[in-house]
Amino acid sequence: MPEENGWLAVFRTLQEAFGPQEWWPAQSPFEVMVGAILTQNTAWRNVEKAIANLRAADALSVAAILTLPEGDLAELLRPSGFYRIKTRRLLALCRFLEAQGVGAVPEQLARQATVPALRQDLLAVHGVGEETADSILLYALDLPVMVVDTYTRRIGGRVGLLGDHLSYTEVQAAIEAELEPGDAAVRNALHALLVSLGKDYCRPRPRCDTCPLNTRCAYAAGRCRPRQPEQP
Ligand code: SF4
Repeated sequence: MPEENGWLAVFRTLQEAFGPQEWWPAQSPFEVMVGAILTQNTAWRNVEKAIANLRAADALSVAAILTLPEGDLAELLRPSGFYRIKTRRLLALCRFLEAQGVGAVPEQLARQATVPALRQDLLAVHGVGEETADSILLYALDLPVMVVDTYTRRIGGRVGLLGDHLSYTEVQAAIEAELEPGDAAVRNALHALLVSLGKDYCRPRPRCDTCPLNTRCAYAAGRCRPRQPEQP
């Protein structure tokens, strides 16, 4: 068992403060995949509207999406922003799932290959970047991959666990080094807790006075400041 400090200490502290987190908000693994595409560059509330449109149109499946005229699909996705781009990306993901033979049961993708091979396959799909691929692996397929997002970087930097100018891979490796290999649940919970902290406390203008990490945070202790002024 790795020594409990750094990210593990953050995890334990947040878990005690916030309790169990339910994440990702979705009714099926395929809905997670759809959400992972639609959440790119937009707020989650906009994703929810687009997914509600898909559900109302009975179009929350690979087959239904691939059957819809592209213009109709785009209209359903309009609330998610950049909807024409996201239409093409969602279609590419659905074609990939169909080509893998898992269109009817997309979560069976987890059985197709090793985690690194699946990650490479997903990264080769049009519009799927590292955060999207890892969100699909972790939250749709329940595979042990840490997701790195804006919250992860902001909190890690302020707390003092991440240096400046790190790549996605470097941030991910720094966190993975502290986690038990193969444990998807802890990666799921840690990311969910970081999202909660980032939304409610560690915002661009942080609320350190009531933050559960304030006794272990370099920013709160005045030892670091944002490199640039941040807007609320
Ligand atoms: S104490 Fe402040 S800067 Fe540190 S993690 Fe909490 S909100 Fe962010």
